Amino acid sequence: MAPPSGPDVAIVGAGAAGIAAARACLARGLSCLVLEAMDRVGGRAFTESARLGAPFDHGASWLHQADDNPLVPLARAMGLRLVDSDAVRVRHVFIGARRATPEEIEALDAARARFDAAVAARAALGPPDVPLAEAVPRGGFWDATVAHRQGPVISAAQLEEISLLDYVATDLAPPNLLPEAGLGALLRRLAEGLPIRTGLPVGRIRWGGTAIALETPHGTLAARACIVTVSTGVLAAGAIAFDPPLPGALRDAVAGMPLGLLTKVAFRAAGEDRLDLPPFASLWRHVASPDEAAMTFHAWPFGRDHLIGFVGGRAAWDLARAGAAAAEAFARDELARLFGAARIARALRTPAAVVTDWGTNPWTRGAYSHALPGHAGARAVLAEAALAGGRLRFAGEACHVRLAGTVAGAWESGQAAAQAVAAALGAPPEPAR
Ligand SMILES: Cc1cc2nc3c(=O)[nH]c(=O)nc-3n(C[C@H](O)[C@H](O)[C@H](O)COP(=O)(O)OP(=O)(O)OC[C@H]3O[C@@H](n4cnc5c(N)ncnc54)[C@H](O)[C@@H]3O)c2cc1C
Repeated sequence: MAPPSGPDVAIVGAGAAGIAAARACLARGLSCLVLEAMDRVGGRAFTESARLGAPFDHGASWLHQADDNPLVPLARAMGLRLVDSDAVRVRHVFIGARRATPEEIEALDAARARFDAAVAARAALGPPDVPLAEAVPRGGFWDATVAHRQGPVISAAQLEEISLLDYVATDLAPPNLLPEAGLGALLRRLAEGLPIRTGLPVGRIRWGGTAIALETPHGTLAARACIVTVSTGVLAAGAIAFDPPLPGALRDAVAGMPLGLLTKVAFRAAGEDRLDLPPFASLWRHVASPDEAAMTFHAWPFGRDHLIGFVGGRAAWDLARAGAAAAEAFARDELARLFGAARIARALRTPAAVVTDWGTNPWTRGAYSHALPGHAGARAVLAEAALAGGRLRFAGEACHVRLAGTVAGAWESGQAAAQAVAAALGAPPEPAR
């Protein structure tokens, strides 16, 4: 069936940015149609309950920067339960197979403060931009552990690959809230009733004429304007051909913001053994180098029988290439270091791990973007690009400087792109509420 033609705005992608853009277009009185390649909405925020018996977020799960996160009031208005993750989380830090003492954890916190101070001091010197690796403290007992967490685990990339100035521009302060129903489920509800067509990949966008034409396997859709929200990984791979080609500065901006990878390996408990960990426990271990392949874990969120491992950066890409079985084996080895192989074999169901596939999914091609050293300005270039007289715009997590890499950043950038497109189309101002 051919897609209906002729909306004011065609939106490519039904992730957070696309959903926010569609809601904002409709609020401005513009018709729109969202074309989504996958058979579901939410993009990199996806809650699944079938395989683990309770909601599990394959992608985003935390509402970061909650006091300033546009999704928090929307979730509250729906009556969804949000748990303050920082208030309920209990850290369990291991050195080898033993738990760190309170004094050692104090030293870890001091190392984190030193990391933040060193990075801020180097950034205060201003350009030229350097790799984050050049600014971080080294040599202290916990320095590599902190750097591993801020690089591969949080930023999903190695420290050498991360722009220092982009890193400091991103603000992910607490509170961090966890929706009990899942962050993907929240987005699914926010997409309800919107004009979205799933299973409809856009292969080419022709933007040289008065209408913008989007080619799909089921026909061509013509719209007055278009907002493209696919990841920079998808853009860089050339999965959508642009005719005429995108300007060089825009292609450089996309290439300067590759996606890192964060992979989750989620287990269910086999019986009553909860590894002496309370609900919402977070597990870290000491590492000798920021580049060591290592996992952190979150145990039993909401009292569920889920134990979720996280591996980021180069190790995650290596495991994505090696396959899901290798990722599960790696996670079991990591847990065996802390609890012993026999106990882990008894405590976790086999074979039942869910391994997320963001690295191999052709519609994401990674987890979230980081700017390469020297490319700290790339987010603004992509966010402000106004092609076809302002009728072709880009949105998504990569387009937000302060909330880069997050659902909140994607959401706000989708809203901003819709407002910009509405202005280009001469839409009347949004009615006052
Ligand atoms: C493991 C993991 C953990 C994360 N944790 C958090 C977290 O705790 N908190 C947080 O805020 N963020 C987190 N993030 C990041 C967050 O998920 C993303 O920043 C955000 O969801 C991106 O939204 P988006 O709309 O920019 O892009 P996407 O969600 O990628 O949406 C783009 C959509 O475009 C579609 N698409 C691609 N190509 C085409 C095409 N050719 N035609 C049509 N459609 C196409 C895709 O299928 C996708 O649905 C995490 C991400 C991952 C992977």
